[in-house]
Amino acid sequence: MRLIWILGDQLLPSHPLLPSPKPDLLVGMIESAPRGTHLRYHQQKLTLLYSAMRHYANDLKKRKFHTLYHHLSDSPAGADYSTILAGWIQEHRIRDIHLLDPNEYDTFHALPALSKKLGVPIQTHRSPQFLVSRDEFAAWANGKKHLLMESHYRRLRAEHNILMTPTGKPEGADWNLDDQNRRTAREFSKENPKIPPLPRIPQDPITSAVAKEVGQRFPDHPGKGDDLWIPTTRQGALEWLKGFIRQRLEAFGSWEDVMIENQPVLFHSVLSPFLNLGLLTPMECIQAAEKTYREGKAPLNSVEGFIRQILGWREFIHGIYWLKMPAYREENFLEADRPLPRWAYTGKTEMRCVSEAIRGTLDLAYNHHIQRLMVLGNYFLLGGYEPKAVLRWYTEMYLDAYDWVMVPNVLGMILFADGGFFATKPYAAGSAYQDKMGNHCGSCRFDPKKKEGPDACPFHSLYWNFYGQHGPKFRSNPRIGMMLKMWEKKSAEEKKRIRTNAQIFLQAQA
Ligand SMILES: Cc1cc2nc3c(=O)[nH]c(=O)nc-3n(C[C@H](O)[C@H](O)[C@H](O)COP(=O)(O)OP(=O)(O)OC[C@H]3O[C@@H](n4cnc5c(N)ncnc54)[C@H](O)[C@@H]3O)c2cc1C
Ligand code: SF4
Repeated sequence: MRLIWILGDQLLPSHPLLPSPKPDLLVGMIESAPRGTHLRYHQQKLTLLYSAMRHYANDLKKRKFHTLYHHLSDSPAGADYSTILAGWIQEHRIRDIHLLDPNEYDTFHALPALSKKLGVPIQTHRSPQFLVSRDEFAAWANGKKHLLMESHYRRLRAEHNILMTPTGKPEGADWNLDDQNRRTAREFSKENPKIPPLPRIPQDPITSAVAKEVGQRFPDHPGKGDDLWIPTTRQGALEWLKGFIRQRLEAFGSWEDVMIENQPVLFHSVLSPFLNLGLLTPMECIQAAEKTYREGKAPLNSVEGFIRQILGWREFIHGIYWLKMPAYREENFLEADRPLPRWAYTGKTEMRCVSEAIRGTLDLAYNHHIQRLMVLGNYFLLGGYEPKAVLRWYTEMYLDAYDWVMVPNVLGMILFADGGFFATKPYAAGSAYQDKMGNHCGSCRFDPKKKEGPDACPFHSLYWNFYGQHGPKFRSNPRIGMMLKMWEKKSAEEKKRIRTNAQIFLQAQA
């Protein structure tokens, strides 16, 4: 017998190793209890994962594949992959195991030892979950000191003929329409664009059963599985994609960067949970968006902006992970060592922009990109929080979190822990940025314009303290020269007050 092992984040619609059922072919799927407890994953994330796996297995059974499925509750406590696979090998006389290249570095590199332990060969195959293979990315990156997402993205646009004219030029003449995609919270309030409500997803019996089991097994994990608000099947994911394309894509670009009270999703797609589980493919999302533009139903700035996220950022981040692991996880260029603030698991902070973001994290296991990057990420960067602790927190919290996407986003993008391998400067921002792009300051107990005193916005002292502390490390970076000069021009007393205020504030968060 041959076993095709399907990992939980490889629930592909047309699985390349499963063209049709055969008498000597088994399919195996494992809900691993030790993996579930490895970190304190949000209960909605675990519910999504196990429910999606159970639905996928049911579909395979309907398609007459002989499917072995290990439920959480089947485990002798602590049974890991090797114990379960060993049982199947014995029972079904399995001679070899095949699977798609695991998306996680540690799982991929554990396979030779697993094969030896089990006494059967394990062969991996290229996964179609990404458009660019690990080798192709490495060949592109070879010899480059710094990598730029933009050049990788342009190469892919041309190669896959996405948003290109018949003469091979970018549609609309420019590759990048970001300058149209930075509209502010004030403009948002003035125009008051209508935000379409998200579809209500009634939980099916499988998801309800999983949510209950997750609640019982992982009671200390944040969130509640019953609150899961997105679908868990391929069909549901396709409908979600359609809904986004029809209702939110048009305004995606213009309001991509704003943060609005009580609007955790705005015009974002919330497609990452499906893409990262394999329920949707990147190309079908890209093509659906491009078609909408060609039909004149969405403007170029929104469609290009959205395609840039998937074809540009997603592929690039994935490539960086495989290029830089395993050393990447250890990087700490800024020597940050502060343990996480208390509010990370409670949301109890007086900083309104932060508490609003954490409310989304705890209630929905989701934040849109700007909250992840410019509110929470910015705070963790400025406060000098330890990269491994921050990585752990983000990985636990989000519906879409997986190692390949978290490591570069957290270490490279928000914490500058790699010294700027792909981010051209740290994404550091003060209160002026928050006040411009978000509308939380109006209901915050701090004042974004005040620099000192009990009402001063903490981002002010944190921001300047960051440049004061790390200035020498950035001296050769032309993109932050101006900030360093501004810091240096401050008087010794002001610098001292900034440092003291930042330290007092950070200590109070511990
Ligand atoms: C600190 C931090 C942590 C992040 N953690 C994750 C994560 O665990 N999983 C994850 O998929 N994305 C992560 N991202 C990237 C991005 O924030 C999310 O993909 C996005 O917010 C998901 O929401 P959405 O589907 O509504 O995105 P949209 O704004 O609608 O964007 C469309 C799609 O583009 C892709 N995308 C956009 N930016 C990135 C990026 N930087 N890296 C990879 N894909 C990207 C996603 O697939 C996303 O679904 C993280 C970013 C930061 C700064
Ligand atoms: S005043 Fe400062 S802490 Fe309060 S919401 Fe604005 S930026 Fe955030």
